Amino acid sequence: MNYLSDRANQLSESATLAMTRLSRELTQQGFDIINLSIGEPDFDTPGFVKDEAKLALDQNFTHYPPVNGYQDLREAICRKLLRDNQLNYKPNQIVVSTGAKQALANTILALVNPGEEVLMPTPYWVSYSEMVKLAGGKSVLIDAGIETRFKITASQLEAAITPNTKLLMFNSPNNPSGAVYNHDEMEALAGVISKHPHLYVIADEIYEYIIFNGKHESLASYPAIHDRVIVINGVSKGYAMTGWRLGYSASNCDIAQAINKIQGQITSGTCSIAQRAAIVAMDRHPDEVDEMKQMVSTFKERRDLLVALLREIPGLKVDLPDGAFYVFPDVTAYLGKKTADGLTLATDDDLCMYLLKEAQVALVPGSSFGNNQCIRFSYATSSEKIAEAARRVKAALQKLV
Ligand code: PMP
Ligand code: GLU
Repeated sequence: MNYLSDRANQLSESATLAMTRLSRELTQQGFDIINLSIGEPDFDTPGFVKDEAKLALDQNFTHYPPVNGYQDLREAICRKLLRDNQLNYKPNQIVVSTGAKQALANTILALVNPGEEVLMPTPYWVSYSEMVKLAGGKSVLIDAGIETRFKITASQLEAAITPNTKLLMFNSPNNPSGAVYNHDEMEALAGVISKHPHLYVIADEIYEYIIFNGKHESLASYPAIHDRVIVINGVSKGYAMTGWRLGYSASNCDIAQAINKIQGQITSGTCSIAQRAAIVAMDRHPDEVDEMKQMVSTFKERRDLLVALLREIPGLKVDLPDGAFYVFPDVTAYLGKKTADGLTLATDDDLCMYLLKEAQVALVPGSSFGNNQCIRFSYATSSEKIAEAARRVKAALQKLV
């Protein structure tokens, strides 16, 4: 539509949200859709957090909060960063935002000039490339396929850096692959970053607590690069609080001030009630909260179930992810095959649409994450639904010739 801005016209709809919307619409029309497209815990927010929100209402926390968040929430975030990540931040280095999504958008807008390059290890989370587009930046993809368990190497990073590189988008545990970088891999990447003082890094740690093997480490914990790393995190995944819309950035003071300025012109401070509730969440590591411990161990069981079932499907290549709640199998064996009606499934998008119609399972095509050989399964749903979805997908794939 030519009266809309080029900015709006050039932006793609979020593929994760689009598949979720489609799946919701088909369900409303009476189809028996199993939705494995949504990336959010199917668990409810723990009671102690909900109680705090009720209290906040009664205490009339109903006015505009400060743009960068309540001081006591930012202090609680600093305590969390010290407790879990051994990171020292002061409250004026924290900006609380409307979800990690806004914290990411703020940071990209605060750092990237038109034409500057942003390094994007693939697969990457859908919204990164679109946010970079909004800022006028240029995404430079660094391929990490299933052979390297979806992780880039230090030499790949080194080779991608140019004098025009501004930012690296780093996400561990990763959406959509579930990959988790280990200490040696992180150390090697930090070594490369330390040699390029013009390079900044966004470390998106939103899946920090959903990890099954190994230990989460923050890139910001490497002193040589600490000042150039912007940590993004929030309560959505670890505390099952997606709808509360609360995330944050931790950065050097200049970047924090720029983010604060941008947010102050666009949305102001995030919801006062969500902020009050987030204080009590931050002060308890999810390992100390029964519901959250249960959530992570349930995710692990479901991961094992889904990976075992997908590995029974001939031709699929399936990595066992170490974190998050996604499996990202390689489906190239099925690309180019024909349906019973003679339709060729040329791409991962075609295959996902076929599986939605034939198997009534909603998935997300890998191309929206920068990898057109894989498709994403979210296992944030019951084991029964996972088993039924895998059965249907297997049957639908077997019909292809
Ligand atoms: N980063 C990644 C990698 C995610 O998967 C998500 C969830 N969609 C976000 C950021 C955004 O999280 P939030 O719900 O806090 O905005
Ligand atoms: N993290 C989720 C996903 O990737 C939420 C949807 C979104 O915001 O993109 O599916």
